[in-house]
Amino acid sequence: MILNPLTPQCGKVYLIGAGPGDPELLTFKAAKAIARATVLMVDDLVNPAILQHAQPETRIIYVGKRGGCSSTPQSAIESMMVQEALAGQIVARIKGGDPYIFGRGGEELATLRAAGIECEVINGITSGLAAATQMNVPLTHRSYTQGVIFVTGHGQAVSDANSAAVSVNWQALAASRMTLVIYMGMTHVVYIQKQLLNGGLPADTPAVVVQNASGGSGAGLSKQCFMTLGNLSDTIVQEGLKSPSIMIIGDVVHCGLSNFNHLNI
Ligand code: SAH
Repeated sequence: MILNPLTPQCGKVYLIGAGPGDPELLTFKAAKAIARATVLMVDDLVNPAILQHAQPETRIIYVGKRGGCSSTPQSAIESMMVQEALAGQIVARIKGGDPYIFGRGGEELATLRAAGIECEVINGITSGLAAATQMNVPLTHRSYTQGVIFVTGHGQAVSDANSAAVSVNWQALAASRMTLVIYMGMTHVVYIQKQLLNGGLPADTPAVVVQNASGGSGAGLSKQCFMTLGNLSDTIVQEGLKSPSIMIIGDVVHCGLSNFNHLNI
């Protein structure tokens, strides 16, 4: 039976950003929504410590894609949310960082809206911001830059049904002299480094890589290393830095340098 989504029995979905790891970085609003939920759908970059805000009887569904768990396809996650909400459940869909920063929050909101389901999006602190703060890097320090760019390093081309194929123009980003905060960049770091150098960003531009910023999902300790654009990929290999990591490249990284001993610069 399909319920009319506008009937009072219809539930609601909260798309919640759990932040980068540290459970204290969860917003009050997110904690309240988790407490209200009857079903939690939890991604793998979420620190399980935040589940303490849930009621004991709340059903928890893990939909993570890492850690050897079998991944739940995005379409299956979306239809699960729709079905649960239509059945009257209050669903908290909990994602690492912020739902709208490389978090597929936009797609999920569109699906829920199309199904006539009430949805509320609650911010989380994105891992790029947490990584910068952990390293004392003020991303937009006015003495160094005019702004900051959050960019994915995941693929050289992004294409799906809803967007035209778009490649990141790394050389243009190099020319912008903005601070670059790169998500999902570890696999293609050699390519990214080469493109930025070809785009004229000096090899001695400081960079920092932070793995598991603010504790991440709690599965591993946070690890970080300063370097330069010129030795970025070599240092990542030498230091054994792995995903999930954020790379920050730009002159603002100079500000963080004096606070750490572990330098490769
Ligand atoms: N919505 C998330 C990003 C999800 S995309 C957010 O706002 O943070 C996944 C990528 O995010 C990872 O490949 C990694 O680049 C980054 N990431 C997520 N959590 C991280 C963490 N705790 N530390 C470092 N990088 C992290």
